Amino acid sequence: MSPSKLKKNRVVSEEDEVSVGDYLENKCQICFDYSIAEEGEPVDSNTFEFECGHRFCVSCSNKALKEAIIHNELHKLQCLDNRCRQTISDSDLKKLFVDESEILNKLQRWRTQRADL
Ligand SMILES: [Zn+2]
Ligand SMILES: [Zn+2]
Repeated sequence: MSPSKLKKNRVVSEEDEVSVGDYLENKCQICFDYSIAEEGEPVDSNTFEFECGHRFCVSCSNKALKEAIIHNELHKLQCLDNRCRQTISDSDLKKLFVDESEILNKLQRWRTQRADL
């Protein structure tokens, strides 16, 4: 079977190429988990997109940012991409910790303390 015949058998549309690109882009740069963009699964269900457009899986984003809040390292509340480091907006934090109000409360407390200094 020639390669060209193989290609003909498989329907390669423009849409296919786009999804392959997304697949690579959606790989989490922290755990390098390719499964976050599994076929048939909506990407948004287990990845978190920061406002800068970088994506990491929810568990990595949640873990890293939670750690920063717990240890009062608010300067670490930024995009997890080493070359980006864009500060994370409060709305992103709220989305990430929607079920963990104690984390958001803690963050609020740290911020209040800072304002007092
Ligand atoms: Zn991850
Ligand atoms: Zn970023």
